[in-house]
Amino acid sequence: MLKPTIGLEIHIEAKTNSKMFCSCKNDPEEKEPNKNICPVCLGHPGALPTINRSAIEKIILAGLALNCEIKNYSRFDRKSYFYPDLPKGYQISQFDFPICKDGYLDVHLDDGTIKRIRINRIHMEEDTARLVHEGPSTLVDFNRSSVPLMELVTEPDINSAEEAKKFAQELQLILKYNDISGANMEKGQMRCEVNISLSDTEKLGTKVEVKNLNSFKAVEKSIEYEIKRQKEIIEKGGKVKQETRGWYDDKQITMDQREKEDAFEYRYFPDPDLPPLNISDEEIEKIKKRLVELPEQKRKRFKEEYNLDDKSIEFYINEPSLADYFEKVISELDCWKKHKNCEKDSIKVCSNYIVTDLQAIIKNDPNFTSIDERITPENFAELVSMLENNEISSNIAKIILLEMYKTKGDPSNILKEKGLSQITDDSEIESIVKSVIEENTKAVSDYKAGKTNSFMFLVGQVMAKSKGKITPQKAEEIIKKLI
Ligand SMILES: [Zn+2]
Repeated sequence: MLKPTIGLEIHIEAKTNSKMFCSCKNDPEEKEPNKNICPVCLGHPGALPTINRSAIEKIILAGLALNCEIKNYSRFDRKSYFYPDLPKGYQISQFDFPICKDGYLDVHLDDGTIKRIRINRIHMEEDTARLVHEGPSTLVDFNRSSVPLMELVTEPDINSAEEAKKFAQELQLILKYNDISGANMEKGQMRCEVNISLSDTEKLGTKVEVKNLNSFKAVEKSIEYEIKRQKEIIEKGGKVKQETRGWYDDKQITMDQREKEDAFEYRYFPDPDLPPLNISDEEIEKIKKRLVELPEQKRKRFKEEYNLDDKSIEFYINEPSLADYFEKVISELDCWKKHKNCEKDSIKVCSNYIVTDLQAIIKNDPNFTSIDERITPENFAELVSMLENNEISSNIAKIILLEMYKTKGDPSNILKEKGLSQITDDSEIESIVKSVIEENTKAVSDYKAGKTNSFMFLVGQVMAKSKGKITPQKAEEIIKKLI
């Protein structure tokens, strides 16, 4: 039985004002080439690097969020190799003394189990320049040169494409929550490489490295592809070649990148221009206080405090600003204000309107900036209590919600202005129900013959005829009374 063994190497650009070793702006959005440059990040001889404190704080924050040990002593080394995007001829990195060691991240799998994936290390280095290919020539843009780059290496604890994808997704959430990195894969702020081998109980397989993965889907698909490819080779009695392969998204395949077969000799040695890093326990404790609530903590709290279903919780985990909004709305509900609990379904109703209707409205608004600006949490809570008190039907609630979003208005004012109030006069309701009964004699006789579906059909007809101004409960009551 062949078993996949997978490890990840993830590069993450830290979000800082300036670059890793100089005061040039760290701006991944800069479109003008070679704007944010100086002798240090251009690699001029004799230019001296200085360490960016804020970048070090970001990697410590990442390490703490990922249960790593933060080392009191670490240092920078020179990793020597030649490439046109690396003018110094070496990259400043960390070799045997990284800042973060031995962490882990727990990920939720689709079958409901939790898998712990250990993290070997996270070290700090500098990004390289970017090569731009134009026709027959290649240009170099140094804006990215020396941007702080964290490299995270997992232990080979991963055994499937799903586990790898879930790890990368959870990591991205943690980085974004704590403002450590923009972590956008399409923009190259987070870049994944996969090591994968297949082995049986007797012998270990050959490791193949896959690069060019710039989406979660690419991580997942490339692993699935490699497992299949390597399996076929082994089952035919062949041997998998140790190599670096690239993922080709258009063809959905990996291909040999034809790099040199032998491993690079990087000749690491301590950078004589940079002092070792001494990070005290007090400093680490201070940075620890800056950690915000992590996705996993939020999942647990949303379950305990609001008893939401897993699907809704996952929605909020991925939409933190709507999660904040949801909590603000809840805090405005009268029941919550009184005893931090709501007996009726108010919380669920509130959440459903945010997850479905409000989310749909936001999606259709290309100019959306912030929900608080459009609908105050007070107004949203008022809409929910109008529903709970049967003052409006859910159809009317949807109409009012859209109007609130458009006009920033108050729900009770909109209700009055638009003439959407419920019909409360029984004789008016009865006359609507009577005309529905007359127009649908077949459904009436079917219901009398025992078909419950026909009854629901009649209720629907009454709702439609009244344009949602009668609640389903009231419609059911009057239909039963009249037939
Ligand atoms: Zn610079």
